Amino acid sequence: MPPTKLSLCVFCGSRSGRSARFGAAARALGELIARRDWRLVYGAGDVGIMGEVARAAQHAGADVFGVIPTHLMQAEAGKRDIGQLVVTETMHERKKIMFTNSDVIVVLPGGAGTLDEFFEVLTWRQIGLHARPIYLLDIDGFWQPLVALVDHVIAQGFADPSLRSFFTTVETVEELEATLGA
Ligand code: AMP
Repeated sequence: MPPTKLSLCVFCGSRSGRSARFGAAARALGELIARRDWRLVYGAGDVGIMGEVARAAQHAGADVFGVIPTHLMQAEAGKRDIGQLVVTETMHERKKIMFTNSDVIVVLPGGAGTLDEFFEVLTWRQIGLHARPIYLLDIDGFWQPLVALVDHVIAQGFADPSLRSFFTTVETVEELEATLGA
């Protein structure tokens, strides 16, 4: 039986970033997922703000589903004590399993890996492979350069303006909760 809980796939940094607000937002998101009895789907690492969101969700009693490739078990401190852990052979399998087990995509601040994950779900959306909502959690305006880049790509005629409608920017975890609704 597929889980009936709303599953949030969270993409985020394997580092902590320079502002303490990134970690605080990650913890608030983990706590929100538990409080709303949603499920966290994430990359199963225990490092950076990935670790923050997972630990907060887990400590507050949320279901946590993690997916990690074998070769990152060490580098990203694969979290073995979560409700469900899937270890994959490849990065591609990891992303596919995270995606297929999710209803909503949330992107916290992160680096190149997070950007890769965001662009993959965005491009899949652009070509009609899915209709999952994608939220950029824009803590302290972190994602504004990315939004500007997408606007630039559209303005220069390399993407349809609809590309901008495939993701939504929210500034706080509270705004995300209000947007996701009851
Ligand atoms: P980062 O934002 O670079 O800290 O990475 C966030 C997550 O994305 C980490 O779990 C990385 O393992 C993952 N990641 C990095 N590169 C890729 C990639 N090419 N495909 C999928 N995931 C990646």
